[in-house]
Amino acid sequence: MELNKISDRVYYLPSEERTDRPVLGYIKGDKYSLAVDAGNSSDHVEKFYRELRELDLRLPDFTVITHWHWDHTFGMHSVSGKTVAGHLTNRQLGEVQEWEWTDEAMEKRLQSGEDIEICDQCIRLEYPDRNKIKIVRAELEFTGVINIDLGGVHCEIKEFTATHSDDSVLVHVPEERVVFIGDAEGTDDYQNQGEYDKARLKEMIRVLEKIDVDIFVLGHDGPESKLEAMSYLRDELDRQD
Ligand SMILES: [Zn+2]
Repeated sequence: MELNKISDRVYYLPSEERTDRPVLGYIKGDKYSLAVDAGNSSDHVEKFYRELRELDLRLPDFTVITHWHWDHTFGMHSVSGKTVAGHLTNRQLGEVQEWEWTDEAMEKRLQSGEDIEICDQCIRLEYPDRNKIKIVRAELEFTGVINIDLGGVHCEIKEFTATHSDDSVLVHVPEERVVFIGDAEGTDDYQNQGEYDKARLKEMIRVLEKIDVDIFVLGHDGPESKLEAMSYLRDELDRQD
């Protein structure tokens, strides 16, 4: 059993470094349940669902995507229920749908900077047969913010300024005092590898600071206290001066 419990209604499947699988979140309502991120493949989705079944948790009615990167989205075609994404994520997924997965096409994208080394390597590992890669756009698309009432608990799903990706979306669960922020706190390795955009970092700190929660769940590290997460970001901001 790998599924971890954060509260009576909130769980997560930890990230896996080998093929860069991110954390998958789960919020259990009385009527519906919601997952955060679809994972990087059908295999990843299946693993998550096996764990949910073992605990008698219903399969997600909604799967919310935190940003377009392959590791969070390539499992979308095999999730149960509806997929939900911000409009910028859906737009970007539309572009990725055009990508081909031959060695030649992948090499070309590395040369042009459309894709990056770490993703290229992990995609090859997760998909020994790259014909299995299938990219879909979310069925429900929003701009700004959308609230979903799961029964006894709700999720506020919001587009926000993040340093990691322009299309970042967070999932705030006020009743459980938890927020899922995807990889938001990382640098944008498609734009400028390892470097923070200072203005965006400042704005992200301002937005996250206002969210009244105890726990931040990070896309590849799992849960941290808000205090811990914010002090990391403030240190990074200080380092920019
Ligand atoms: Zn990412």
